[in-house]
Amino acid sequence: MFIGHIALALAAKRATPRVSLAMLLVAAQWADMLWPALLAIGVEQVRIDPGNTAFTPLNFVSYPYSHSLVALVAWGIAIGAVYRGIAGGRRTFLILAALVVSHWVLDYVTHRPDMPLYPGGVKLGLGLWNSIPATLTIEAAMYVAGLAIYLRSTRARDAVGRWAFLALAAMLPMLWIAAAFGPPPPSVDALWMTALIGAALFTLWAWWADRHRYVAT
Ligand SMILES: [Zn+2]
Repeated sequence: MFIGHIALALAAKRATPRVSLAMLLVAAQWADMLWPALLAIGVEQVRIDPGNTAFTPLNFVSYPYSHSLVALVAWGIAIGAVYRGIAGGRRTFLILAALVVSHWVLDYVTHRPDMPLYPGGVKLGLGLWNSIPATLTIEAAMYVAGLAIYLRSTRARDAVGRWAFLALAAMLPMLWIAAAFGPPPPSVDALWMTALIGAALFTLWAWWADRHRYVAT
């Protein structure tokens, strides 16, 4: 899942209005941000395998530290605790931790049974990706709902808050569609490099656009 994770981050803005959208995105996408770094150093493995499911050309051979449920619970507690240490707030801690763990739940629905419960443990997955129409419908509906909640919870302070945010909000589903219908990545190295650069770029973009918006009361 891709824009479904982003949808939860957008929606979480209403519950934790003082937390930057960038931080909410990092929490919801933590598994997919850590994953390319672990691929780069060879700790986790993926294979490019067009047709692995209808929607993705990737075979997620092994990703116990970025994508097992137990690892994500631990990461959620760690990320929530670090943020709480810096900015405080029990509610923020809970929301950030829940966002990190939500990644597992959504990927469990999406992936074929390749999502480990714990490193070395049983692998689960409901395989939404076996159906392109179902994937498009469910993820797009989640994204529209998340976006609507964010837009109702915040207001643009200026042109950056309006246009930089709308450009970001349009760009993300376009990339999702391009990744699904474009050619598979040429190599695993190209995959992790693109994923890391994309994560850095979109996190900064979200931070910038979100700073130029204020919380609607
Ligand atoms: Zn993932």
